[in-house]
Amino acid sequence: MASDGHDGSEEKKFILPEIKFDKLFINGEFVDALSGKKFDTIDPRTGDVLARVAEGDKEDVDLAVKAAREAFDHGRWPRMPGTARRKIMLKFADLIDQHTEELSSLEAADGGKLFSGLKFMEIPFCGEILRYFAGAADKIHGETLKMSRELHGYTLKEPIGVVGHIIPWNFPSTLFFFKVAPALAAGCTMVVKPAEQSPLTALYYAHLAKEAGIPDGVINVITGFGPTAGAALSSHMDVDKISFTGSTEVGRLIMEAAAKSNLKPVSLELGGKSPIIIFDDADPNIAVQLAKLAVFTNKGEVCVAASRVYIQEGIYEEFVKKAVESAKSLKIGDPFDPEVNHGPQVDKRQFERVLSYIDLGKKEGATLLTGGRQWGEKGYYIEPTVFTDVKEDMTIAQEEIFGPVMSLMKFKTVEEVIEKANKTKYGLAAGIVTKDLNIANRVSRSVRAGIVWINCYFAYDCDCPYGGYKMSGFGKDLGLESLEGYLQTKSVITPIYNSPWL
Ligand code: NAD
Repeated sequence: MASDGHDGSEEKKFILPEIKFDKLFINGEFVDALSGKKFDTIDPRTGDVLARVAEGDKEDVDLAVKAAREAFDHGRWPRMPGTARRKIMLKFADLIDQHTEELSSLEAADGGKLFSGLKFMEIPFCGEILRYFAGAADKIHGETLKMSRELHGYTLKEPIGVVGHIIPWNFPSTLFFFKVAPALAAGCTMVVKPAEQSPLTALYYAHLAKEAGIPDGVINVITGFGPTAGAALSSHMDVDKISFTGSTEVGRLIMEAAAKSNLKPVSLELGGKSPIIIFDDADPNIAVQLAKLAVFTNKGEVCVAASRVYIQEGIYEEFVKKAVESAKSLKIGDPFDPEVNHGPQVDKRQFERVLSYIDLGKKEGATLLTGGRQWGEKGYYIEPTVFTDVKEDMTIAQEEIFGPVMSLMKFKTVEEVIEKANKTKYGLAAGIVTKDLNIANRVSRSVRAGIVWINCYFAYDCDCPYGGYKMSGFGKDLGLESLEGYLQTKSVITPIYNSPWL
């Protein structure tokens, strides 16, 4: 690990593509925010301004919802056959493949994410998500009902209507498609509010969607802030559903806004404090690699980050030693450098927040084994950090840090670790590392989490529903179950013979 700050080399120069990043995307056009206001999105490698972005507010949300409403009530998208929607979505996916390089550059510069990870995994995954749901677009159907009287009954699966998607900054592209792809397949129209920290790629996708043939008004993008643009969307009387990914605190506000407006349904993908549980029989080298992946991927800015690492006492000492070595082996630096595997936190606020949790960890008595400091003098880099002697009631064991901080905790028995693993308000994900099938089965059934990875971590798949238990939210992204979230069921009944009902 280079630990002495920047080596003097310049950050990769980055030229923004020809998209109008200082505009909103409403009804198929790039337009100015009505107020004319703009805000800066920052390059976290340097803290410098990357682009000026339109600051959408309530009046702009009103226009975007109006366009989406018109496209839903009178437009082609919800009415065209699923085969036609599928064709256009497949073209959209192909366009993403053709623009992987630009999209990866944008996202790396806007969010401090690794360029190679974006280019070879995240952006291609977006195309795959679109293809998965494109394949479902022509297979949406209801059921014929077995009525108890002489009635013919069947159900129709209809698109839910105008959807508001509110997205966080840590996976701006993949989370955009977790939401937009099933909504498109269902025949919905939508308004997307990307996070203010990482708004650029959403505008790029809106532009590609138009090029693919998605009709105007179906996808609208409003850049802006949460308490203004986001709140206007979640409380809008003409929005039929909100699909939200973000913090538990804001999830609560979204639910309140939905309840106080038109009682729209919401799906909430919220925060986490996920455990990874390593048993004595695990290969320590594999276990450490998995823990490193589970904690430090995307500089720890991952909702399912395993920020609580439980290690059984038999391999605890060996694991701790190896975990420190593995944290030190991460190369920090410009996320455009293919050798680098640890970039900067997304912005100054997040950088300061993570450092304040590290301070709290030290104050509350955890032992800092490595890291814990800013790396370099510019930008928002934090060294991969490992704490040991972490106790359940410490803040770093309870609150979501959303940064590169590994907390190591020892346990003796299976019963004990199940109880400890469940002892937070969250229930997003869990990891288990063991060769013992009985233990794996028992723990996976006992941990209250929406996804459990056994001897792997971050194993996402388009067909695998993903979402939280407890205060990590409800509703699913991915899988056919998520498509259901954008549909509603209508029952239709008619007499079989000339009506005895009249
Ligand atoms: P955040 O909740 O602060 O913001 C998320 C989005 O909500 C942003 O677009 C923001 O502008 C908007 N927003 C903020 N206030 C709002 C309001 N009053 N009304 C409507 N919208 C509002 O979250 P963040 O800091 O961007 O992201 C980090 C959080 O997201 C973490 O808690 C993380 O665990 C969570 N997350 C969860 C998942 C998941 O799938 N469960 C995935 C990624 C991130």
